[in-house]
Amino acid sequence: MRYKAYTLRNFRDIEQLKNVDKEIIEAVEVVGSVMPFRVNSYVIDELIDWENIPNDPIFQLTFPQRGMLPPDQYERVREMLGTNELQELVTTIRRGLNPHPAGQMQYNVPLLHGEPMAGIQHKYRETVLFFPRQGQTCFSFCTFCFRWPQFVGVDELRFASREIDQLVAYLQEHPEVQDVLFTGGDPMVMSPGVLSRYIRPLIEERPEGLRSIRIGTKVLSYNPYKFLDDEGEGYISLFEEVSEAGLHLAIMAHFNHPNEMRTKTLVDAVNAIRKTGAQIRTQSPVLNHINNDPSAWTEMWRRQVDLGMIPYYMFVVRDTGAKEYFKVPLVRAWEVFRQAYRNVSGLCRTVRGPSMSTTWGKIEVMGKTTIGGQALLALRFIQGRDARWVGRPFFAKYDANASWVDELKPVEGGRFFFQKDEDYLRSYDRIRQMEESSAQT
Ligand SMILES: *Cc1c(COP(=O)(O)O)cnc(C)c1O
Ligand code: SF4
Repeated sequence: MRYKAYTLRNFRDIEQLKNVDKEIIEAVEVVGSVMPFRVNSYVIDELIDWENIPNDPIFQLTFPQRGMLPPDQYERVREMLGTNELQELVTTIRRGLNPHPAGQMQYNVPLLHGEPMAGIQHKYRETVLFFPRQGQTCFSFCTFCFRWPQFVGVDELRFASREIDQLVAYLQEHPEVQDVLFTGGDPMVMSPGVLSRYIRPLIEERPEGLRSIRIGTKVLSYNPYKFLDDEGEGYISLFEEVSEAGLHLAIMAHFNHPNEMRTKTLVDAVNAIRKTGAQIRTQSPVLNHINNDPSAWTEMWRRQVDLGMIPYYMFVVRDTGAKEYFKVPLVRAWEVFRQAYRNVSGLCRTVRGPSMSTTWGKIEVMGKTTIGGQALLALRFIQGRDARWVGRPFFAKYDANASWVDELKPVEGGRFFFQKDEDYLRSYDRIRQMEESSAQT
């Protein structure tokens, strides 16, 4: 079965929208002119509770909302709708939305024989991210997504990967890499045939260090039926091939709310995938308006474990796009984490977080503590650009409002230990310069 896709062009045809307030529909059009918007009929018919608009978490997750733009920008876009000046205004607004947080464009792109490899990012020693060219879109777009510039055409590069051969060659030169993580967009938009053209060479060439293949995807939320029809059998046998070759296959499933896990189609898809030997691990950011509530997380983690999935990461939402609308202060994110974590069985406590994916690495907020009468936040590197930082705890002054590491201050004043590293400082200055010069073009 193919679900019908809706974009700005045809969303007014959605039957359920006929009873929705005019202002809400206007916001879809205004904000959807700036941010990517796409939704499919599975989400509309099976996930959204249309009695609960606009607060329904899945509606917030997939339909652009008025609060995602500052009021003055909202008004300007609204006034320009349908005019020739719209595109220029939209381009200016997008540039101001920090399209490439954490230096991902400049800093993580590796070299092969001195040439940059556009479809690959290598930040943490053990894991390479791979952006297959044909996987750079999604079934529906998430309103908070930090990959949004790829969908609206801001990136000339779109991280397009020309060659799986390049990836294999890179892995052969880098035996320290244990994992390849297919990402996007959503790699599961590729047909089984296309996906296997990317995966089979990894099995056949079998680079020395490679142990696992991961696929980062929201297919289980947005299109679980994909595993259950004739084409679905193609994915299932491909997944079996990976397991039979002795490589671990991890589906890194992105779920933001328990309402994404209630349909029978989802349960059937999870069962079909698990039978192949693949593991499903789950992750999501904490998002205001969507899941800023411990009970949502308790229910999500329980449900995931009931179905045989493994809770993996809780993230802090990134500093990009409509961050003001979705952001949750670090301390609040930690409270949501802790309250939910306390309420679930140890089997759910495989999850880590809340974690910020920063320029320096993944930093976990361990929580508030008091030492010698001073309130502190304890933090820890889960992943580091420098592998020596991993597992290293450090402290910041307590700040209930900070929502990212660069808003925190070290206890002893000055810089955090990882900001003192000389190599790092030199390259960080370079990134800043590159970011500034690219922001002007
Ligand atoms: C999160 C992430 C990974 C994977 O990290 P794990 O902790 O191994 O799951 C790899 N590369 C980048 C750039 C990441 O952000
Ligand atoms: S599925 Fe993933 S990449 Fe696609 S819009 Fe959602 S968060 Fe972004």
